[in-house]
Formats: sequence, C-alpha cells, structure tokens
Amino acid sequence: MSTPLLELVNVTRIYPTGDSEFRALDRVSLTIESGEMVAIVGPSGSGKSTLMNILGCLDHPSAGEYRIAGRETSDLPSEELAELRRYHFGFIFQRYHLMSHLSAVQNSEIPAIYAGVNKNRRRASAQDLLMRLGLGDRTEHRPGQLSGGQQQRVSVARALINGGEVILADEPTGALDSQSGKEMMALLKELHEHGHTIILVTHDAGIAAHAERIIEMSDGQIISDKSHGTMPRRTSHSSRCETLVAGGHIQQLWDRTCEAFRMAWFAMSCHRLRTLLTMLGIIIGITAVVCVVALGQGAQQKIIADINSMGTNVITVSPGKGWGDWRSSAIHTLVPADLDALKRQSYVDSVTPSLSSSQLLRYRSITASASVTGVSADYFRVRGMTLAQGTRFSDSEVRQLAQVVVIDDNTAAKLFSDSESPLGKVILLGSIPCRVVGITEKKESPFGNNQNLNVWIPYASAMGRLIGQNYFDAITVRVADGFDNELAETRITQLLMRRHGSQDFYTSSSDTILKTVNKTTSTMTLLVAAIAVISLVVGGIGVMNIMLVSVTERTHEIGIRMAVGARQSDIMQQFLIEAVLVCLLGGSVGVLLSYAIGLVFPLFVSSIQMHFSLWAILSAVLCSTLIGIVFGFLPARNAARLDPVVALARD
Ligand code: ADP
Ligand code: MG
Repeated sequence: MSTPLLELVNVTRIYPTGDSEFRALDRVSLTIESGEMVAIVGPSGSGKSTLMNILGCLDHPSAGEYRIAGRETSDLPSEELAELRRYHFGFIFQRYHLMSHLSAVQNSEIPAIYAGVNKNRRRASAQDLLMRLGLGDRTEHRPGQLSGGQQQRVSVARALINGGEVILADEPTGALDSQSGKEMMALLKELHEHGHTIILVTHDAGIAAHAERIIEMSDGQIISDKSHGTMPRRTSHSSRCETLVAGGHIQQLWDRTCEAFRMAWFAMSCHRLRTLLTMLGIIIGITAVVCVVALGQGAQQKIIADINSMGTNVITVSPGKGWGDWRSSAIHTLVPADLDALKRQSYVDSVTPSLSSSQLLRYRSITASASVTGVSADYFRVRGMTLAQGTRFSDSEVRQLAQVVVIDDNTAAKLFSDSESPLGKVILLGSIPCRVVGITEKKESPFGNNQNLNVWIPYASAMGRLIGQNYFDAITVRVADGFDNELAETRITQLLMRRHGSQDFYTSSSDTILKTVNKTTSTMTLLVAAIAVISLVVGGIGVMNIMLVSVTERTHEIGIRMAVGARQSDIMQQFLIEAVLVCLLGGSVGVLLSYAIGLVFPLFVSSIQMHFSLWAILSAVLCSTLIGIVFGFLPARNAARLDPVVALARD
C-alpha cells in the first residue's frame, strides 16, 4: 500500500492552563488518503479545531507524529510549514476570516502573492475562480458588502487559488443560513468530485452525512471512524484547479517586495491621520537637521567670503596666547622698537601698529562717538584702503606727533554738511584739536552695513597725546608679494621671540583665521545638528510606538496571512517596509519643508543664506530609512513571531 496523504500517529496536544495542563487531543491516530472526503463530528470542545489546526500545519502536536505524504513535520522549520500551508492546504473558517479592507478579488489572491505569482496572472485566476463560484459581479466588493454565503465563497476561492489539494473546512456552514449552508456543502462535494481532499468539521449530523467517512470525536479522542458509500477514489489531480506556477526566483522576490510595498501603502492610507501624526516626528526631525546644517554651511561660506575680502597676505601680531586670552591686556610688550625691527625685514611690504580707543568727536555743534585708532602711515597700504579725498599722513608727521587725522566716509557724513569739504577742517578728538587730511573711500563692509565712525590718527600722537600708553594693541604686517605667508609667519614669530625673550604674543593670518573659523563653525553645526538628531530619535520612537500598536491591532490579519501561507519573513518584511515607508515619506516631506523654509528665510534674514547641499539631503533620506529599519525592527519581529493559531483566535 502506498503512503497515505496525511498520517497522524498518537498525536497529543496539551494546552497549559494555569498550573495544570489540558489535553485537547489525546493520542489520536488517523490516516487520510488523497481524494477522501472526511467529516469530523463531535460536541463542542472535543478537540476538532485543534485537530484541524494540526492537520493544516498551523499548530504543532505536543507529542506524536504527523506525516504529510510520508514526510515527518515535527522538525520542519517554520518556513517549510508556511510553504505546506501555501501550496497544499486551503483553509475555510467558520467566520470566513477575510480581510475587511480588501476586496473579494484581493482577498482571494493573497496566497498567490506569497507564492510569488505574477500580478496579472493571479488577478486573472482569482477573478476566474470567483466567477466559477458565482461571484463574477462581486469581485470588487469588500467583505462587509457581501452576504455570509458570498463571503464564505470568497474564502473558498482563497483556499483554491494555489491549488488547494487539501481543503480544511472548520464548521464552514456554522455561520450560514440553511440555504447558504446547503450551497456550501454542494460546493465542497463538487470540489471533492474534482479530486480535492476535503476535511470538514461540523457538529451537524445532517451535514456530516454528505461525507463518505465520518470520524467522531469526544474529549480529545476518536471514538468512531466509519466509512460508508463508495470508497475513496484516487482521482488524478489533473481535474483539480491548476496550480499557479510562479516565475523565476528573482522575479518572485521582486513581485513579493512590490506587493509588500503595495500592502504597506494600503495599510498607511487606511489610517491617514495616524500615519501623518507618526510622520510628524520624523518630519520635524529631518527639517531641523537639514535646516541647521544648511544654516551652518551658509554661515561658514559667508564668513569665509568675508575673510577672503580682507586680503590674504596680512599677518597680525597680538599680545597673549591666543584669541580670548584674558591676560593679554596685561601684556605690554609690543612696542615701537618691534615695529622698526619688523619694518627692516625683507619679506615685509609694509607694517602698521594699532591702538584703539573710543573718543567723542566734535565739530561745531555736532558731537559723535567714534573709534579712534592710532596707526602708522602705512596703515592704508596694509589694509588695502584707498582715500577718496586728501592724503594720508606722512612718516614725519607720525614722528612729530602731528595732530592730523584721516576720517572715513561715515564720519565725514556725520560731522560735515554735503556742501562743506572736511579737508583742512579742525575737529576735536576728546579735547585734542586735529586737522582732517584725508577721507577714505566708502568701503563695502564685509560684516554687514557698517555705521561705525572710524578715525585714524598717527600712532605716536595717539600714544603721546590721546590715550597715553606706550605699547601697541597689535601690529599688522603686509607680507611682500610672492613671499610665502606661512614662512613669513614663522620668521615674524622667531624675530619677536628673540626680541621679547619669550612668546608673549600670537600671530594670526587670514589663513589661520579661516582654519579656525572653519573648525569652529563645523563644530557648532555638528553640535546643533546633534541636538536636532535627538528630535529625530524621538520621532523614531514614535514610529516604533505606533508600529507596535499597529501590530497588536492587526494580529488577526497577521494570523490570516500566516494561515494562507505567509512566511515569517513576509510578515517581517511587510511591517519593516511600512515603518521605512513612513520614515521615508516623513523624511521627504521634511526635506521639502526645509526648502520651503530656505525660500522664506531670506525675507527675514539677509546676512546669511541657507545653503542646501546634496550631501545633507541624501544623508537625511538615508537617515530616515535607517530610523525606519531600526525602530521598525522590534514591532516587525513581534509580528513575525506571532503564533498563527493564537493570532487567528484574536479579534
Ligand atoms: P472544538 O473545535 O471541538 O470545539 P477545540 O479544538 O477548539 O474544540 O478545543 C478543544 C479544547 O481545547 C477545548 O476545551 C478548549 O477549551 C481547549 N483549548 C483550545 N484552544 C486552547 C488554548 N489555546 N489554550 C487552552 N485551551 C484551549
Ligand atoms: Mg472548533
């Protein structure tokens, strides 16, 4: 005798209940041949459904053996059990277990999706099946728009789409009126005649009479097993519904992934508000990160441009150890002798000291506060400034402590009327009368539109007459053209070290300033971006939260999917894709929002532009995908690890 199709040997199923256990099946042995129609009857609670679930590989026996076509199932991995469910079994449940958000045709084609059947093929075959089941005009209806009998026929179509060699019907007429029940039985008999193996659970003796073999159960045991009428036929399988053939491996994977995307999209659009709220966290996070980085880069570029406009071959020597050294004000070692020594160096084009103070200017009845800087005659050359009118003061005027000043255009405009030429006029710097000898050209100030008043006076006059200090605040050197800036900086340092005996000064060139500024703004941007990233993480936790809720809410759906053959990896993929899709969408909206902010931003702030780099946007998108994967993983894994029987039982 050939191997039976299904064979149970001493199968026991024990449910743990509190501290004791409950034997739902007690050493059940049973063989079912291919092409049989078997009715399992018995009172409620006798273990019929438990037996069905084990037969359909939804549940495992606690003890005993279950062989399908001679193949032991107890040590099959869950993937292979899913495969058995997908290709060999078709479930019909008492309460249909259709997905309420899918149409009849979409419900029927689910097993074919997991089998990797191409979309058009499975759509056509689902439609064909529904047509043959008398639902040709109902294919686009949702379960809620169908009668009980019609819904049950949709679930028959679903059971048949991948072939449905063995149909497991657990009280298929239980929820139907008697007329629909009769039709259902007629349908099952017809399938039986076409060669399907039918296993039917019922507690109605009249319905059981349709079967050739009736197995009676009580308290988890088979108490009788009677065959009557014709003996089981071994019909050739050719008359059964054609099994849909899937495409190549890559094609299958692609189809399944597309399908997962479609399902995820569908699930998201079913809960629009919730999806939007979930996304909000990601939107805000991505917008914050992209905007902060854009602002940081904008500011950096602006500062670099400003520094470059100050000239690149200028080196400034200042007292102290570096920027912000609070002891530098106590260091008084930059003196006129240093200036003379620097002036004699071959690599020095020109050099100027500077010492500044704020003074009250007065001309006739007009007074104004100005920044007065003591400088050498070379100052204007060092700084690359040109005079609009008059001349700069001469070296000899510096030596003579002459009371002459060069003023900038702001000061000229402030103190003098348009018709009056400032040249030769005497203004008061504090209490010192000085003659105006020159006016500088209006300069596009790099640091915003400067309204400050600037007045330059020979440094000796500033030291001797105005401020009364015998040291400089700084010395600025313009390096001769063609001489290496860095080398000049080293030479200056060596020279002044020799003169001072220690390094109580520091040099800064536009190069070093650039480097420092770059470093500082990058650090700042990174810091603020890090804070913005926290909001992204919070958004990610929000996604995880909602996904966990979603898994709980859709446990029943997951159960159905598993019962019709979804692998654990399919379920995992579906939820992961959903999480990633939410995050990606949120990320894209965030990027768009950032661009919108970038458009509005210049209306309020003119000094800095937001600079969006492709790099920042790509990393934002990558970031949101990663967040989706990281925070979607736990919920997706929870979903995939659900026990199909438990999930199905949940409502
Ligand atoms: P039937 O389908 O014949 O009505 P079931 O197979 O559903 O019966 O259940 C058989 C027995 O097992 C019942 O007494 C039921 O209470 C028990 N049972 C079923 N599922 C579980 C479970 N998950 N945990 C504990 N007991 C269960
Ligand atoms: Mg039952």
